[in-house]
Amino acid sequence: MTTQNPEPKTQNLVVIIGGGLAGSEAAWQAARRGVRVRVHEMKPRKFSPAHGSPLLGELVCSNSLRADRVESAVGLLKEEMRRLDSLIMAAAAATRVPAGKALAVDREAFAAFITEALASEPLVEVVREEVAAPDPEMTTIIATGPLTSEPLAEALGRLTGQEHLHFYDAIAPIVTAESLDLGKIFRASRYGAGDDYLNCPFTEAEYAAFYEALMAAEQVPLKAFEEPRYFEGCLPVEIMAARGYQTLLFGPLKPVGLIDPATGRQPFAVVQLRAENREGTLYNLVGFQTKLKYGEQQRVFRLIPGLEQAEFARLGSIHRNTFIHSPGLLSPHLNFLAHPHLFLAGQISGVEGYVESASMGLLAGINATRHLRSQPLATPPRETALGALIYHLTNTATKDFQPMNVNFGLFPALEGRIPKKLRGAAYAERALEALEEWMRREEL
Ligand SMILES: Cc1cc2nc3c(=O)[nH]c(=O)nc-3n(C[C@H](O)[C@H](O)[C@H](O)COP(=O)(O)OP(=O)(O)OC[C@H]3O[C@@H](n4cnc5c(N)ncnc54)[C@H](O)[C@@H]3O)c2cc1C
Repeated sequence: MTTQNPEPKTQNLVVIIGGGLAGSEAAWQAARRGVRVRVHEMKPRKFSPAHGSPLLGELVCSNSLRADRVESAVGLLKEEMRRLDSLIMAAAAATRVPAGKALAVDREAFAAFITEALASEPLVEVVREEVAAPDPEMTTIIATGPLTSEPLAEALGRLTGQEHLHFYDAIAPIVTAESLDLGKIFRASRYGAGDDYLNCPFTEAEYAAFYEALMAAEQVPLKAFEEPRYFEGCLPVEIMAARGYQTLLFGPLKPVGLIDPATGRQPFAVVQLRAENREGTLYNLVGFQTKLKYGEQQRVFRLIPGLEQAEFARLGSIHRNTFIHSPGLLSPHLNFLAHPHLFLAGQISGVEGYVESASMGLLAGINATRHLRSQPLATPPRETALGALIYHLTNTATKDFQPMNVNFGLFPALEGRIPKKLRGAAYAERALEALEEWMRREEL
């Protein structure tokens, strides 16, 4: 796929704003393709509420980059990045600490490795200053992360339209379609207006047990800078439930207009599931944004009839997160459709997680270089983990766009019936073949 490349103002310089995971990876990718790079990083002059080290590539929370097996979606993403000579993956390999099947790192050594690699690269200059607004005529990658400083967030709001810039995630869990018990769940929209939703019907006793478990479940304590400013429209389900036993029955669990074909009656309560993608492989729990601990979410939400065996592609959360509503704004090459010199990478582009953020930096670094050189831009095939993430960012059919970890539900379905325990390997084999083919074609 290609886009038109109007001439950028400066021919041999990629400007990168933010020296986190995405910005560092982008700088590396651009420099190793022979262009000059200037990284603007506001640390140590100014720190976000979660950052504390002057080093580039700082991990703000866990020191784990999650599963390493290629049969898991995030393990596959890592393997694809390795094959594309990722700096973040090289840093992880060099600073790895034992963590079972996960890839965990010594966070100080990890960030030091990245900082040192970029410092030794003659084409990279690191400027320690905050940028208040991008110069739309320079080829620029914005990679300022979930805690983008305020002046730049305001500039992005002006650039994209305020309604396209979000400051909080209020994420409801997502489950895979294949893990649902369709013997209990029925398909219908309220008042017979189509069949867009999957409905999980409760008896009164099931609702009582669910309500009790929800009220007793443990919540994640808030960080000081995350003081909740919930909108009434997206209250956490447990906060709504705490207002009274009946509240959910008039909110997200209201059964009106729904008849369960198994009983011919309106159920006592209903949890609705809405398709997350066109293929119908993923469903979100409507109205279930939550601050419950991850283990608690799995325990409590499996009490919903039909979700007893649910496999969670994403768990719910609510935290501060600056991100753009990418579908409709970003091209599959990670530049803005309306501002082709301007690229977005990392968490702010609408992915979630360290590895996902770095991977979008990798692609933005490749494409910003090509843009500078007026070469056709590249998009990885959808069968790859990289391509699946790009698809999530640019799929305009997604309702309620929210940042997403990589997961196999974002990939095109596999052909034929493959036993569940072999599916990860099948996705990986197909993805790596497609990646190699793409790399050859694009001369990467
Ligand atoms: C509190 C918190 C905890 C998280 N924990 C995890 C976790 O455990 N595991 C996980 O996988 N993901 C986690 N994430 C999500 C996400 O993966 C990380 O935030 C990740 O670091 C995002 O990478 P990034 O490159 O997009 O942004 P960052 O790594 O945050 O990098 C952005 C950089 O831009 C700089 N910057 C910001 N504004 C400006 C400006 N105007 N000018 C110049 N520089 C600027 C910042 O100082 C920072 O160095 C967490 C997020 C938050 C907020």
